[in-house]
Amino acid sequence: MTERPLTERRIVVASHNEGKLREFAGLMAPFGFEARSAKEYGLPEPDETGTTFEENAAIKALAAATATGLPALSDDSGLCVDALDGQPGVYTADWATLPDGSRDFMMAMEKTEKALRDRGATAPDARTGRFVAVICLAWPDGHREFFRGEAEGTLVWPPRGSDGFGYDPVFLPNGHARTFGEMTADEKHGWTPGNGEALSHRARAFAGFARAKLGLA
Ligand code: IMP
Repeated sequence: MTERPLTERRIVVASHNEGKLREFAGLMAPFGFEARSAKEYGLPEPDETGTTFEENAAIKALAAATATGLPALSDDSGLCVDALDGQPGVYTADWATLPDGSRDFMMAMEKTEKALRDRGATAPDARTGRFVAVICLAWPDGHREFFRGEAEGTLVWPPRGSDGFGYDPVFLPNGHARTFGEMTADEKHGWTPGNGEALSHRARAFAGFARAKLGLA
């Protein structure tokens, strides 16, 4: 699809995930955008029926854009572990989902750890993987654009740190001594506009979005 300028200053962040919303609010604040959450509009959470991050990101952003008449930004993300053939991947949130629909990330991290041990992946170099984030920006007429970010790292056990969300406490980004769960949000992003190179998958995807759509040099 061709690129379209983003002229609207109000944008819906198509997510009900508090951790993601917090991170996006922080990333967007310096650009003077009015970021509205899907919750504020009472939007339902669409079923993520895609098999790629791009497909699921598009489902969420298009649903929010058509329901609100505003451009919408979504993020589909997950953890891809090499020794697990890329799992949990697009099913990362599902690995944390309990029968009543609530999410338990300690359980999900334990499940990932058990799967690694079952495959004999105990040495650090056998426990590599990456967080992936795909941002989709969609307009009410169906036009959409994508921005992908990845963060390489190693899975550690036991979990370390209580900052962040999801699988942050078991993810040690390459070149760092602290897990994402031991970093402040700013450290995890590793980036403020025009300052430093983004570290997290979401900040990397967002930096691509900011360069293409927000005029960041
Ligand atoms: P989804 O994009 O809503 O399908 O959910 C992705 C899932 O991946 C989240 O529920 C988290 O468990 C996990 N995830 C994505 N990004 C991060 C992150 O930055 N830190 C920790 N976990 C993450």
